[in-house]
Amino acid sequence: MSGTYDVAVVGGGLSGWAAAISAARLGAKTFLVEQFAFLGGMATAGLVNPFMTHYTSTGTKLVAGLFDELQSRLAQLDAIIGRSFDSEIMKFVLQESVLEAGVELRFHTFFQAATADDYAFRLRLTSKSGEEEIMCRRLVDCSGDGDAAVSLGAEFNMGDAEGLPQAMTLMFDVGGVDLVKALEYVRDHPDQMRFPKLPPDADLSRLAKGVISVAGYYDLVGQARSAGEYKAPGDLIFYISRPRKGEVVFNTTHVGGVRGTSAEDLTKAEIEGRKQMMSILAFLRKYVPGFEECYLLRSAAHIGVRETRRIMGDYVFSEDDVEEARKFPDCICRLAYPVDIHSGKGEGYVKDEKKDERQARRGAPPAGDWYEIPYRCLLPKDLDNVLVAGKCVSSTQAGHGAIRIMPACIAMGQAAGTAAALSLQHGVTPRALDTNVLLDALRSHGALV
Ligand SMILES: Cc1cc2nc3c(=O)[nH]c(=O)nc-3n(C[C@H](O)[C@H](O)[C@H](O)COP(=O)(O)OP(=O)(O)OC[C@H]3O[C@@H](n4cnc5c(N)ncnc54)[C@H](O)[C@@H]3O)c2cc1C
Repeated sequence: MSGTYDVAVVGGGLSGWAAAISAARLGAKTFLVEQFAFLGGMATAGLVNPFMTHYTSTGTKLVAGLFDELQSRLAQLDAIIGRSFDSEIMKFVLQESVLEAGVELRFHTFFQAATADDYAFRLRLTSKSGEEEIMCRRLVDCSGDGDAAVSLGAEFNMGDAEGLPQAMTLMFDVGGVDLVKALEYVRDHPDQMRFPKLPPDADLSRLAKGVISVAGYYDLVGQARSAGEYKAPGDLIFYISRPRKGEVVFNTTHVGGVRGTSAEDLTKAEIEGRKQMMSILAFLRKYVPGFEECYLLRSAAHIGVRETRRIMGDYVFSEDDVEEARKFPDCICRLAYPVDIHSGKGEGYVKDEKKDERQARRGAPPAGDWYEIPYRCLLPKDLDNVLVAGKCVSSTQAGHGAIRIMPACIAMGQAAGTAAALSLQHGVTPRALDTNVLLDALRSHGALV
């Protein structure tokens, strides 16, 4: 096959989903290529849940647009409670919405590399059908790893000062949980919990019907470790309820010293993550009240990769932008989420928060305030007609630690797809696009910018 498109989007995670829909809805002939059999990336293949907050600490809403549309589509199918969603229904919702927008969708196909000539990009793809090429005039890199931008020579950074990215986490869903019983323990042992700290009169039945995040069980983890029955790093377990009764998702395993751009490292991480998962499951059944009858519902199809390459762009978003709540005239996303870094060494969550590197380096905007992500973060330095969106945009490691969350990835994708289509309509490069034109279009599609 070979085709010619206005816009090609590489990677069908939440940023790629938003980019492809946005470009297609503005009339661009749009192609979306995804290596897996479904859209969603970390939100589906990685089982990541829930959507992290898109409000300020005082309740001002910061992200809307396609993110709101996604939530209401999930709600219509009874697949979201609060910020916690059903990742299987998510796959369906994402695919239907891109098809409705007229995007040409290709699963099971891996983007290999791009080359550029004066008029267009030539994308080399590989799949069960063999090698093929497509052409496009605007290239939006939503691969999470900057694969497309890097193949065109983009500059990037990875990880901390030693190049070590954040630890990976194999997420897994557990069913058969008696959540009310689990919350009784949580309520009665506040000293054992990082959160929540439930009051003695907490309405556990009501809490169990909603969405709750639980982290702790220090002594139980310690006892199991002493008995050689707990093989995951860290001092606590962390789970979040899913919309279906008795189902929770675990964000507890940690594998350090690995890079998501290395197949060898990914293999090592999947194997280690699965070993940790099995140890946690056995621990749950034996030690944790409410989990006696629990079972493994599913494990992530791909280990959760928090961070790989950060493509250097016209602006590099940093922790200072977060802490100083900086605003920009080309703001394409507002956010108040703090810097959140899981140590690249893979120690996991530790009890003493002062020793927890992630906490110690935490930066946040002042109470009630927010920071903004400039459009320039989506424009790779020295490359024209290429945009990057999602977790691989231009940022320092700490800046990335704040803006990598799903609502922001959707907002960035919406901006990238919109800019790609508008730049074609206006006959300019995305870099030369009038920011007011972009922001007006985003606002008219519900974005809070
Ligand atoms: C363990 C973990 C926990 C997290 N917890 C939360 C949380 O609680 N709340 C929150 O809001 N955020 C959380 N995040 C962050 C968030 O999930 C991600 O940053 C976000 O989903 C990234 O979206 P994306 O579209 O940029 O990238 P991805 O979701 O990584 O999507 C990239 C897509 O591109 C595809 N792809 C990559 N390369 C190629 C290629 N060469 N050819 C074809 N396809 C390709 C991939 O298959 C994938 O579908 C967490 C992340 C992790 C890993």
